[in-house]
Amino acid sequence: MTIFEADWICPVSSPPICNGWLSVNNGRILGLGPLPLGEGSREAAGEGSHRISFRGCAIIPGFVNAHAHLELTILRGFLEDLPFATWIPRLSRTKYQQLTRDEIRLSARLGAVEMLGAGVTCVGEVMDLGTSWEAMREFGLRGIAYQEIFGPADAQMEEALAGLQNKIETYRHDDDSETRCIGVSPHAPYTVSAKLYQAVNDYAQRQGLRLTTHVGESTEEGLLLRHGSGPFAERLRERGIAVAPQRCSPIVAHCPKSNAKLAHGIARIAEMKEIGLRIALGTDSVASNNVVDMFEEMRSAIFQQRGLTKRLDALDAETVFRMATLGGAECLGLADYLGSLEPAKRADFAVVDLNDPAVQPVYDPIAAMVYSASRHNVRATYLGGCEVKIDSADMLRECVSISRRLR
Ligand SMILES: [Zn+2]
Repeated sequence: MTIFEADWICPVSSPPICNGWLSVNNGRILGLGPLPLGEGSREAAGEGSHRISFRGCAIIPGFVNAHAHLELTILRGFLEDLPFATWIPRLSRTKYQQLTRDEIRLSARLGAVEMLGAGVTCVGEVMDLGTSWEAMREFGLRGIAYQEIFGPADAQMEEALAGLQNKIETYRHDDDSETRCIGVSPHAPYTVSAKLYQAVNDYAQRQGLRLTTHVGESTEEGLLLRHGSGPFAERLRERGIAVAPQRCSPIVAHCPKSNAKLAHGIARIAEMKEIGLRIALGTDSVASNNVVDMFEEMRSAIFQQRGLTKRLDALDAETVFRMATLGGAECLGLADYLGSLEPAKRADFAVVDLNDPAVQPVYDPIAAMVYSASRHNVRATYLGGCEVKIDSADMLRECVSISRRLR
């Protein structure tokens, strides 16, 4: 049993505790409370156990990055300042024609290391080649690995669906934990026909698989769905695929930095929140947001909503901090196991060093982290009560050498 002490314990499901403790046993949280350990708390804390003190730090639940693509890590900086309708096909060409499966696997492994170093312990990962699933299992990263499926023409439906089922059956053999599971992801309305969407949804329902999709990401996608026009429609017609206007708009998801960088606009999060939608935060791939930093995503989300609505209450630090942790776990269906610091949940947490001239003084730990901290303040990441320590030097060297070939 281990007791962790810190200036702040931020459970998310309850208010921050100043000078607090958190006890861990067998990978799970046993108890938490303010120091010193009082009579009632000694039993929960496990007196006489190993104690680790993080002075000047806050202990927070590991971040839940609800939307990412670990396999694309090697494309960081490769597709800068391209219009989305060019960005997407160039990304696919590079991935499928220039990189081998082993190289994409390395990319996914490096992505997992980057996540863990940034305090992310759980991810909503959208993958195509299965290498992210391997990387998540290798490094203990939790979350859902959603297998992508493509097929814009109705004629491709059966073949695409059979391919998906094959992959799912293979990966599900390794589905070894309630906090790390396989899901499915019909890619997007411009690469998946309405019929295939329906078929994948039926399959997911039958198999009890979680599902995610890219929707409402770009203006081009809106043109395709509303009017059957624009660059995506033209490209499908060039491939002999009939395109009819659906006269509807897609729904909207939220990866604030990635969406802004690709000039997609700003999701109306304040309004979604008001009608009671569950909202999680994601980074998307580093090919479009460049760095996995949930602190940056949190403050970008707030600044965008306030800029958009001119309302201070559009989004605040406490709400966005919850979106980046427990809210993400709720969206992935994993909130029973993680997302907050509560007894019986997995002891997945990040230690954030607040003792930094760029962060001090700290009047309110949540506001300080949301508005002032960055991934560089993450001093340690714990999975199931064990500190994550990975030497990534060899992986980095290999990644740089592959990137030279891509130039
Ligand atoms: Zn994505």
